[in-house]
Amino acid sequence: MSELRELYQSVILDHKKKPRNFREPDGTNRLAHGNNPLCGDKLTVFVVLDGDVVRDVGFTGDGCAISTASASLMTEALKGRRIEEIERTFGAFHELVTSDPTSEPETGSLGKLAVFAGVREFPARVKCATLAWHTMKAALDESGATVKTE
Ligand code: ZN
Repeated sequence: MSELRELYQSVILDHKKKPRNFREPDGTNRLAHGNNPLCGDKLTVFVVLDGDVVRDVGFTGDGCAISTASASLMTEALKGRRIEEIERTFGAFHELVTSDPTSEPETGSLGKLAVFAGVREFPARVKCATLAWHTMKAALDESGATVKTE
């Protein structure tokens, strides 16, 4: 288990150092701002939505390693996906990071996003890990509101 934890940490640190899709994509037609005042994480998610398909997605902002890595891995995972698949993935991700840390993590459909299983042991960091996802959802809902995790 500790080897797995080290692997998870190295993936998260790599995405913090070199966030993927850290930009506002050309043709952005949806965006939302996210704010996690408990930790000081702030980010903006940009979406190029074509019908119900996310053609491109990027983000900018500043936050802790977990929030930045989560946004980075999320944008990689969601590009080219349909809204319906994104909602399913968000559900599975949310369940993963809030599940009982003593249970076997359900990572089946999550691919690389499984690196956030370790967050289960740190309830205060769950908001860091889910901020990008709540913000993505607000962008897709076109609510235009700033998402606060409190
Ligand atoms: Zn944070």
